[in-house]
Amino acid sequence: MIDLSNENIIHVKNNGLEYIQFRRLLEYKELVHCFTLKPLDFGDNSNYEQKKDIVTKNYKLICNELGIDYSNIIRPYQTHTNNVEEVKTKTGIFLKEYTNIDGLITNKTNKALSLTFADCTPIYLYDPVKKAIGNIHSGWQGTVKQIAKSAINKMVQTYNSNPKDIICAIGPTIRKCHFEVEDDVKNLFTNQFSNIQNIVTLGDVKDGKQKYYIDTVKINKSMLMEMGLREENIIDSNICTVCNYNLMHSYRKEGKDAGRNTSIIMLK
Ligand SMILES: [Zn+2]
Repeated sequence: MIDLSNENIIHVKNNGLEYIQFRRLLEYKELVHCFTLKPLDFGDNSNYEQKKDIVTKNYKLICNELGIDYSNIIRPYQTHTNNVEEVKTKTGIFLKEYTNIDGLITNKTNKALSLTFADCTPIYLYDPVKKAIGNIHSGWQGTVKQIAKSAINKMVQTYNSNPKDIICAIGPTIRKCHFEVEDDVKNLFTNQFSNIQNIVTLGDVKDGKQKYYIDTVKINKSMLMEMGLREENIIDSNICTVCNYNLMHSYRKEGKDAGRNTSIIMLK
């Protein structure tokens, strides 16, 4: 049995369910969080209606495991934007007011922020001083659009958070080992992040095309530190979804039929 546990994360296997939790976030008793693993699937924008029964069942399984009331799940309709919205009252899946939203923040209890992933980068945020949380879907497009920056700005504006207090956890995601791109995407990154060193590694030439590998985790970490987060408060799972596709849904590996993992964070 594979165990992904490392100094920053615990790979939990309980009641037939497998998920990941961050040791650092577990220190805060007012927090509930997880990153789900296979076989749990939470569907994507296009097949959610089709998979609704299984997705609802999976949400209920993980909610039951973590002590979350299923009716407190709030999941936006993610479209690779840098839009971050505050959750105040309503919860539910794909609510109209949370369409084209890729980040949620709240300081309310019992709002279980749930975002879904197949290789994109999950970023959990927690301000233990102002008692506020955030959950971000930072795919490569969201990373270019700097959604992590948008989320920190929104926490500062909305909750008067001090970035020095904010703890950030970076979940399993496609990493430099597998995020292979060509000139078009490489240039988007080097143009946007000319201030960050060593984000591109030269790959092979395949079919006459130069390949590159991009380190989006490094970019997100640099962006967060630029915003004032302390390096010791940025916790990395150090897990690549493509390397571990047997345990996690991976778009790179499985294509358009890939399922979705979900990240959940809630204030009790
Ligand atoms: Zn990898």
